Amino acid sequence: MKMRFGFVSNSSSSSFTCDHCKTTESGYDVGISEFEMVECDYGHICCVHHLSVEIDDPKVIEAFLEIHPTYRKYANGDMIGEISYHFPSEFCPMCNLEAIGMDDLVSYYELRFGLNQDEVLDDIKNTFNTYDNFIKAARDANDEG
Ligand SMILES: [Zn+2]
Ligand SMILES: [Zn+2]
Repeated sequence: MKMRFGFVSNSSSSSFTCDHCKTTESGYDVGISEFEMVECDYGHICCVHHLSVEIDDPKVIEAFLEIHPTYRKYANGDMIGEISYHFPSEFCPMCNLEAIGMDDLVSYYELRFGLNQDEVLDDIKNTFNTYDNFIKAARDANDEG
């Protein structure tokens, strides 16, 4: 599992890719909530519209406060920004195995087929020769199925 901490200060550009639909949003000095996306406690990024709950649903807020009790003292304020960065994984589609993100897909292939990234790269080189050939073949395969 890889933990990603979005957003390091000083006027940085941020970019977020939904693990569910692969949509990427980016901009300067913006937080994930402004893109209507959330990051779960396991680091998955997800558009709000894939979620089966509203982000300010009392269930979600309560789950968030249980995991991050230090925020209880702010519980009357607007916590959408905080919850967007620490979205409870019990409501995350990836954590519920309803969808899979790229990082998890890579981990799965590594575990299931015992291939590490170097071996995958070697195989791509041997099979396709160039990145161009590889990506065209991948696109064709996607179109078919
Ligand atoms: Zn999405
Ligand atoms: Zn998750």
